[in-house]
Amino acid sequence: MLTMLGLLPTFQRRLVNWYRAARRDLPWRTERQEKSKLPDPYRVLVSETMLQQTQVATVIPYFQRFVDRFPTVHALAQADEQEVLQLWQGLGYYSRARKLRLAAQMIVQQYNGRVPDQIEQLLLVPGVGRYTAGAIVSIGYDQPAPIVDGNVIRVISRLDLIRTNARDDPGALKQIWLRAEAVVPRRNCADFNSGLMELGATICLRRNPRCAICPVRAHCQALATGQQDAVPPVRKKKILEKQRRWVLCIERDKRYLIQQRPARGRWASMWQFLTVTPGTEESTTDDITPALAVMNRLAGLKLRSLRLLSRFDHRLTHRHYTFTAYHCRLAKKARLGATQWQRWVSLEELEQYPLPQPHRNIAQLLPSAAEDGSA
Ligand code: SF4
Repeated sequence: MLTMLGLLPTFQRRLVNWYRAARRDLPWRTERQEKSKLPDPYRVLVSETMLQQTQVATVIPYFQRFVDRFPTVHALAQADEQEVLQLWQGLGYYSRARKLRLAAQMIVQQYNGRVPDQIEQLLLVPGVGRYTAGAIVSIGYDQPAPIVDGNVIRVISRLDLIRTNARDDPGALKQIWLRAEAVVPRRNCADFNSGLMELGATICLRRNPRCAICPVRAHCQALATGQQDAVPPVRKKKILEKQRRWVLCIERDKRYLIQQRPARGRWASMWQFLTVTPGTEESTTDDITPALAVMNRLAGLKLRSLRLLSRFDHRLTHRHYTFTAYHCRLAKKARLGATQWQRWVSLEELEQYPLPQPHRNIAQLLPSAAEDGSA
């Protein structure tokens, strides 16, 4: 650490020069402000929100669609939540999308549409944590502020030879935040912080870091001691909670029954096919017949022609789902019920609804399922 502090200006200059020469051309880095080469802080807010827990390659098309549809804070503030969720569909962690819209509304109401440039103000904006606030201040306004994401954790852990994984060790994480604050320069903060993240994304890789071409290799204690592959150590394995879901794609006259999820919790306010939790989570049976009999009796659905569509796993951060999807038809005589939270929609109309990714995957199987069934 002392070695690096002594050479801090050299370290900063090397990183900034390297970033300016080697940076990837990403859509949120597009220069949009006429008098400044800095990215629009609104685009920083959107991109950094999308990039939380999500890979750059996945985010690029979502970001492009999102800012095409909502190019300004004002446009997003006026957006319908369902449309925002629909654009977010497939990106996961949907509370980010809802909070981003609320953030835009707050920024319009309290700051006349200008994204704040003070960390303290930003931390009061919905969905904005320490990382996003630091990114907006440093990258959007070129003001000194630290940022720490997964890439920065890895780079600083190696530079300073921090031997525990900061994601499992709050003490190490605090140390890295302090370090990120100490190394950020007074000028060129945007390129410095972007460079730190870019280095982690393209050079200081988790496996096989490319130390031979690293611009700050002279400052790296992990390389100096030959521990670059061992630092940071692999995270402790999480035990994922296992859950099973049966999904019923109920069809009548080429329309499918969907229902809206509650306004709180996982996939809040999104739409899905009728979904049933098997009697016990430990149950491994795919025999849905008893559950179907109960539903027919309780809801008067009169379901028939049940066919297995697909069975697949879907992992979230803390949960491992197994979805078993069925196609079935509603008897002609059955009531075509629908409530405020239920709709009968065609496959074309279904495209307009935000669906959690597992249900979107199932929806893609329906055109062929409907054809098979009509034979
Ligand atoms: S020298 Fe290697 S381990 Fe050290 S920062 Fe550069 S890429 Fe990472």
